[in-house]
Amino acid sequence: MYQCWLCPSNFRTRRDLKNHVVPKPHAALSVVCPWCYEEEKSFNRTLDLKAHVEKKHKTTYQSLPVDLLTENNCFWLALKPSDYGRVVSPTDSHSSSAIQARSIILEWIKKGSKQTRSKDDWLNGWWKREVIKSPTPERVGDSPVMGAGSYAKNGVGAAVATGDGDVMMRFLPS
Ligand SMILES: [Zn+2]
Ligand SMILES: [Zn+2]
Repeated sequence: MYQCWLCPSNFRTRRDLKNHVVPKPHAALSVVCPWCYEEEKSFNRTLDLKAHVEKKHKTTYQSLPVDLLTENNCFWLALKPSDYGRVVSPTDSHSSSAIQARSIILEWIKKGSKQTRSKDDWLNGWWKREVIKSPTPERVGDSPVMGAGSYAKNGVGAAVATGDGDVMMRFLPS
């Protein structure tokens, strides 16, 4: 069972849950077009944003690296980054596509006039999540699921596991 974190609905598969949170009212994966300045234009899916950019901002689209508008990298363009990050794992914050996406957004914030989120909202959305991802210095590696991942501490030991993740999550000892 996959429980929606925004309403009481349950779903049999992760894909069903994703299909449920994408449209309104949740619009959990909505992303902005960082090349529309007049008004804030957002899209429920990365694919819709991509189609829009290809059509309305042709020259820009042709100059973009192919990995800029992937679903994972569009975390950096997400209006609700904490929701977005629950469904899609963001690209590494140090990757060139992530850095470029953030600089495009910061540029957009400077030029735009009717944005629904302030610069601080954007920065918090990007980095507050990093804190959640690494709650303790012992945390090793990275996991898209809260409470999962691996831990190691000098003098205590380390624990890792592999196998059927969905089954293991049910018996998560932490
Ligand atoms: Zn829901
Ligand atoms: Zn646009």
